[in-house]
Amino acid sequence: MAFTSAGKYVGRFAPSPTGPLHAGSLVAALASWLDARAARQGRGGRWLLRIEDIDTPRCSPESAQAILSQLSALQLLPDEAPLYQSQRSARYRQVLDRLMADGLAYPCACTRREIEQALTQSGRQHERHSEHVYPGTCRAGLNGRQARAWRFHTTRLQHSMPEEGFHASPCVTRDGVRWTDRRLGEQFQDVVATVGDFVLLRADGIWAYQLAVTTDDADQEITHIVRGEDLADNTPRQILLQKALGWPTPQYLHTPLVRGLDGEKLSKQHGAPPIDIARPLAALCSAAGVLGLPVPDHLRCGHLPDALAFWVQAWMHSAN
Ligand code: GLU
Repeated sequence: MAFTSAGKYVGRFAPSPTGPLHAGSLVAALASWLDARAARQGRGGRWLLRIEDIDTPRCSPESAQAILSQLSALQLLPDEAPLYQSQRSARYRQVLDRLMADGLAYPCACTRREIEQALTQSGRQHERHSEHVYPGTCRAGLNGRQARAWRFHTTRLQHSMPEEGFHASPCVTRDGVRWTDRRLGEQFQDVVATVGDFVLLRADGIWAYQLAVTTDDADQEITHIVRGEDLADNTPRQILLQKALGWPTPQYLHTPLVRGLDGEKLSKQHGAPPIDIARPLAALCSAAGVLGLPVPDHLRCGHLPDALAFWVQAWMHSAN
């Protein structure tokens, strides 16, 4: 992995409290903590914690508390009190209003069924992670119908971006978004074809992940995002929002996923067991192994702070 981080550094770990941390989410937590601590040597890297509890039906204060206790047992301690997304609705509203005023977002009245019908009629059958690529029905107006959700007008932004930035990274053109991940290398997504105009505020009144995460990363002045690889294909949408709002793009590093015996990504939905806080070092050793860090035998039976200090050094030395 290329673990470079120059200049000011603010990193973050942003779990959704839909359950306690498991072996998969710990990999992202440890990597982002190590990256910030490695950057801190001499330059003052900070590591923040954000509880992403906007999806209220799926999140619970008990899970948030469990995550805080687990991180504390693992000695992965944030530099500030956590930020809770559930307290940030007014700010998300402001950002949506700004996008609407700039003609980059619009209300949408379509039900899922209507979207499916429109896609079938046009001979398109786009579906991705059980989400449809929106056919753009409400772009020109609601036609007297009732607004249900608010969408980001992807095409409008892509067509208004100056082409001269083509060699820059990230780079937004008519074809899509190109960006460089510190571990995965150069990435490209044709956002219009693969995602379309995406949702910012859902029909059930819940702020969409893309809007909330992009706003929070900008407001918390996050310079380095380290998170699981399953989130990598959200990055182009977040870059589009950053461009639309004139916000800087952080550096990204997407960490390897942990898979269960069935080959599926470990997740709370798949019943991954919580990290056992009675044995924090064992959990950290497994996570370090997934990150490709050395785990010598003496570390396994030593002290937790020594192990963390060892991995900070190892992380720094894997930088290039
Ligand atoms: N809250 C998201 C999750 O737990 C992570 C968001 C992010 O790191 O951007 O999957």
